[in-house]
Amino acid sequence: MSLTVLMNAGPWLSVPPPGYGGIENVVATLVPELRRLGVRVVLASVETSTLPVDEKIWVFPDGQFHALQRPYNQVCGISQAHLHGVVRELHARDDIDLVHDHVEAVGLATMAAMGPDGPPVLHTLHWDLAKHPELYGNLDGGDRVRVNGVSASQLARAPQALQDHSVGHVHLSTPLAVGADRRPRVEKGDYLVILGRINPGKGQDLGARLAQQVGFPLVLAGPVGPYHRPEDLAAAGDEARQNPDVRFFYDQVAPHVDGDLVRWVGTVAGQERDDLVAGARASLFPLRWEEPGGTAVVESLSLGTPVVSTSRGCLPELIEHGRTGLLTTDEEELGELVLAAGLLDPDECRREAAARFTPAMMAERYVGLYERVRQLAARE
Ligand code: UDP
Repeated sequence: MSLTVLMNAGPWLSVPPPGYGGIENVVATLVPELRRLGVRVVLASVETSTLPVDEKIWVFPDGQFHALQRPYNQVCGISQAHLHGVVRELHARDDIDLVHDHVEAVGLATMAAMGPDGPPVLHTLHWDLAKHPELYGNLDGGDRVRVNGVSASQLARAPQALQDHSVGHVHLSTPLAVGADRRPRVEKGDYLVILGRINPGKGQDLGARLAQQVGFPLVLAGPVGPYHRPEDLAAAGDEARQNPDVRFFYDQVAPHVDGDLVRWVGTVAGQERDDLVAGARASLFPLRWEEPGGTAVVESLSLGTPVVSTSRGCLPELIEHGRTGLLTTDEEELGELVLAAGLLDPDECRREAAARFTPAMMAERYVGLYERVRQLAARE
């Protein structure tokens, strides 16, 4: 297949990400499979990205994640500088068949504004955008600009303008799903884990209270705002509190962190992350937001760890209640579900992951969508 795709992963983290990194992980998972299918990939990211691609473009030498605690206008300035680099590149060359954009609303509107001179664009929605229609400016790129969701529920909740431009959804995937059904069983510990950004939507405060209720140790893994390690957060002092996730951590989560029962270990990566999740009795997702895609959910299944979650967002699409996890609409029931999770079969989780969430499956779906987006654009 001769198709050149400009993959826009944004300026925040290198690809693959050093540890935490939702969008960057998706891009790092998708690109090798696309290249295996013959797609030429031009990656728009930061210079420190090490993902093998056919070409790289960047504005910033390294990831700007640390700047996310700065005032909002400065954060937008970073986004805009990155985006101008991408648009400049698009104006300068005519070999890009399609832009696969993962970054931001404003970016999509800007590309739409390129009009018929610009290539077709597929924008993957990564967030729960129901409450933020204003983030998406004018999408009048005619038939050139399309969006896809990472779950059916995310799309169903998206602002109407996005639904009008939708070409469907593609569930997230993980390299851990490849051969997951053939890996040997891992001995389970008696602890629970929450893998994800520390954030009110992810509900670590609820998880911590739950751990105290059922008496199982809980490990919280993930960054607090831009801080990946407990010592970095401690060193940042009061200024760090400008970040809402830092305030959430100090006000709602830290009071429950008591060393023995509930621990925050910062961001974990690589084998350490996989061992932590594989050895857990259950992965908790005490969600308060409508989880749009849930990479950590499919990773947990791949590692043979059942999921206990509030039934929000994409969770019912990814988890079969009673087989690969336990879901409830009632937060009060989570404690009982944690106790029951020990009865679920880890092999069922790993079989499900191998059958549904491999990168090859995701890439094939995307290649199908690229064709569809280009056909729709050609109608103009
Ligand atoms: N992650 C990680 N280390 C951590 C916490 C999270 O590597 O300590 C990874 C996690 O494995 C997943 C990603 O960060 O691949 C989070 O993606 P997800 O879709 O679950 O959540 P998001 O943050 O994008 O809402």
